[in-house]
Amino acid sequence: MDIVEAEVIIIGGGIAGLIAAEYLSMKKNVIVITKFDIKHSNSYLAQGGISAVIDKNDTWQEHYMDTLQAGHFHNDPEMTEFLVKEGSKVIDSLSCWGVPFDRNLNGQFLLGKEGGHHRNRIVHAGGDQTGKKIMEALIRRISDKVRIETGQYAVELLAANGMCYGVYCKDNDGCVTLYKSTHTILAGGGYAGIYSATSNANGSDGSAICMAYRAGAELADLEFVQFHPTLLKSEKISGLITEAVRGEGGVLVNSNGSPIMDGEHPLKDLAPRDIVSRRIFDEIHNQRGSVFLNIKDVSDFENKFPGVTILCGNAGISLDAGLIPVTPGAHFTMGGIKTDLFGRTSLEGLYAVGECANTGVHGANRLASNSLLEGAVFAKQTAQYILSEKNERILSFSFSLIQESYSAGNYSNDALLEINDIQEIMDKYAGICRDEEGLKKAENKFQLGNFNPALLDQPIALIKRFNMQTMAWLTVTSCLKRKESRGSHFRRDFPFALKEWEQKKIIRSVLRDESFIAKKAAAGILN
Ligand SMILES: Cc1cc2nc3c(=O)[nH]c(=O)nc-3n(C[C@H](O)[C@H](O)[C@H](O)COP(=O)(O)OP(=O)(O)OC[C@H]3O[C@@H](n4cnc5c(N)ncnc54)[C@H](O)[C@@H]3O)c2cc1C
Repeated sequence: MDIVEAEVIIIGGGIAGLIAAEYLSMKKNVIVITKFDIKHSNSYLAQGGISAVIDKNDTWQEHYMDTLQAGHFHNDPEMTEFLVKEGSKVIDSLSCWGVPFDRNLNGQFLLGKEGGHHRNRIVHAGGDQTGKKIMEALIRRISDKVRIETGQYAVELLAANGMCYGVYCKDNDGCVTLYKSTHTILAGGGYAGIYSATSNANGSDGSAICMAYRAGAELADLEFVQFHPTLLKSEKISGLITEAVRGEGGVLVNSNGSPIMDGEHPLKDLAPRDIVSRRIFDEIHNQRGSVFLNIKDVSDFENKFPGVTILCGNAGISLDAGLIPVTPGAHFTMGGIKTDLFGRTSLEGLYAVGECANTGVHGANRLASNSLLEGAVFAKQTAQYILSEKNERILSFSFSLIQESYSAGNYSNDALLEINDIQEIMDKYAGICRDEEGLKKAENKFQLGNFNPALLDQPIALIKRFNMQTMAWLTVTSCLKRKESRGSHFRRDFPFALKEWEQKKIIRSVLRDESFIAKKAAAGILN
């Protein structure tokens, strides 16, 4: 096993990881680790843009209220206030770093509108290619000053006694490297990839969250999975149709051509995502119909939405008829590793930023285009915390810890499901509409029995299945615990939000979870 040392190790090369690296590299020796090529991330795929209070008639209070309303007031009020107040500063920094945001002839930002926003406040680039433009600029900036290790799958944290000292990674040839660090930042993205109907890039398996869980960090809000209303539906699901299309006049219609959001919500097609997705789900599953995005009234479509135009072309969908077939799918995960204003987790020396973190800003349902914003804002916060001298931490741990963590174990992998099976079970029992009976079935299928692997000894394909099944089990069991409906979490058997659940989070920790899988998952490091 190779051992590499750095002051800061960042797992993940999306917007959150790279912005943290940008700030930290001024003073620290930083390594960014990604399991794929640096361009492979959900950040790269982001279409609509970043929400920010830019318009002179807009206020942070309005952005704040839109965020709370979309989140069904499950949001953390202080963190949310901090988030929305930072919006214009994020846009300034990204512009300075070379992101070519779309502007009018006077140089003012062109501001789009998306679901749940009462004002135009979505700053975008390249029409619907905001993520690509941001990531290209960030990659350009950090390439010379930060060491980037691609093709390294982070498997386990090196943690003991409530402290984190680094991370073990494995490459495709099976070589293990221990990256020791004073500060370890998880920026590994979310877990919408545990569903088969998803907008996410391949690999959104929640592995960073699972790693943190096994090491003893607290997780929160895992039951809140956002289903985006408009994934492109051809033979299979072929990508996302940004909400900005509805912001420009696109209307959701059923097979008869009737608008389906009339009378459902004052914002109609631009209602928050949970509401629109449930309406489409009803039309498709209960009425046995189809849903289309009618774009006949969207002017200059190909220029405004070049990415969506290409996506439709690749899927064999002609835009001539002005109707794009759509279906909802898992898009964003509000749950994650519980963090504070400085990205700190419950383990000392371990931080989490971006979609893998649960800062509390999204509540029970994220407001559109608040995710890139969250990644940028809290990556900077975390970096600045680490850079502040008084928080300097000395790296000290015994080598016996390494040997202990890296010891082999006996296992039988009968209980481990194939990825397709995990995704199918999640679609069927833990999707837009859930109930106790289905969730219990899923829970039973996801139990890992006597499977107790020393993960570092396993091939990456098996580690990935283990992580996905762990993530699926954590999600389903959190869904079971929340016996109410709120935002993206809709229970047929408890269809209303209940007072006793207001502002209550379901916290998961391997140190407290009672189940067999929790003990087994912990066994590799914590026994
Ligand atoms: C199609 C699409 C469109 C979207 N549009 C928007 C939008 O317009 N506005 C908005 O605000 N949000 C949007 N989102 C959501 C937003 O893009 C993501 O929430 C955000 O980019 C997440 O950033 P991140 O840095 O946390 O993680 P990601 O961008 O997902 O990056 C995760 C990184 O972690 C690495 N990684 C993960 N696990 C491991 C491991 N075990 N070992 C090593 N490396 C690992 C990956 O390789 C990757 O580099 C969209 C999402 C999708 C899928």
